Amino acid sequence: MRLLIISGPSGSGKSTLVRHLIGREAIPVAKSISATTRPARPGEVNGKDYFFLPKDEFLRRRAAGEFAETNEVHESGVWYGTLLAELQRIVDSGRTPLLEIDIQGGLRLLEEFKDTLSIFITTASPDEFRKRLSSRGSESPEQIAKRLETAERELKLAHLYSHQVCNDSLDRAVDEIVSLFKSHWK
Ligand code: 5GP
Repeated sequence: MRLLIISGPSGSGKSTLVRHLIGREAIPVAKSISATTRPARPGEVNGKDYFFLPKDEFLRRRAAGEFAETNEVHESGVWYGTLLAELQRIVDSGRTPLLEIDIQGGLRLLEEFKDTLSIFITTASPDEFRKRLSSRGSESPEQIAKRLETAERELKLAHLYSHQVCNDSLDRAVDEIVSLFKSHWK
């Protein structure tokens, strides 16, 4: 199974990047919708942004082997995971699943799925992360501090991905991912 994995610290702008990448329809990908136990943010829709699952259901399905990977992110007790059925649904539709997941989850999938293009999104400066995170307004100062800590840890693992793409210019970053995809799966 082919997978396109996109990771990067909170505040690297990866969600916007992924939205533009999919919107452009230049490559046959579809976003894999993850499951999570965190509550939906305002405007988020169940089944579109995430499958929002109660923790007991998430853990039951995890124990039943329904996930390709799971991770408890930010030491907050919140679980995220990629459902195998979701990946299969996308493959059956003739597309490559695009996974916007954290680096621990990504690295786990890299071990298991060999035909994978893995891209780590960076921005030029750590200050930029901080600015973007704070301006989002959806997290408390403690949550922001935790995410920054996670970002620093993740940056140290970035070299394990096959490519790094700097997101300082959105259009250029989207172009770069499109050409990486096309050259990887000629
Ligand atoms: P958020 O709560 O801001 O939507 O996402 C928080 C973090 O969870 C992000 O780093 C995101 O990439 C990661 N994430 C989202 N879905 C998954 C998933 O299915 N698996 C893993 N391992 N991480 C995920």
